[in-house]
Amino acid sequence: MNRKGQAYYQSQRRRAWERDGGACVVCGRTAESTHHRQGRSGPDPHRLANLLTVCGDGVRGDHGEIHANPSASYAYGRMVPRLGIRTPEDTPVLTRSGWVLYDNDGGATAAEPMKENMHA
Ligand SMILES: [Zn+2]
Repeated sequence: MNRKGQAYYQSQRRRAWERDGGACVVCGRTAESTHHRQGRSGPDPHRLANLLTVCGDGVRGDHGEIHANPSASYAYGRMVPRLGIRTPEDTPVLTRSGWVLYDNDGGATAAEPMKENMHA
């Protein structure tokens, strides 16, 4: 990432952290890292709907759990397949506050649970 990209990512991480109240969206503990629901590839991977503030890192805590259990993570909207019709914008996430749909402006609205197999 170049310096401009790095500054953008830091800004987006801060906005996601503020949106999520500085707490892990899964368990509510102090957030430690930022998870990319659809990975870091593709156009604008750091848009807010693609980011979740979580405890741990890629191997520890809920960030580690998300990557260690992909089938559950897809079912809970914490991961979104790169190939397919779903996007982070239209895929609700199961958080500690229930199912939520995130937008790219820092908004989070209550959502209906994702139906089984909708992620397939
Ligand atoms: Zn957590």
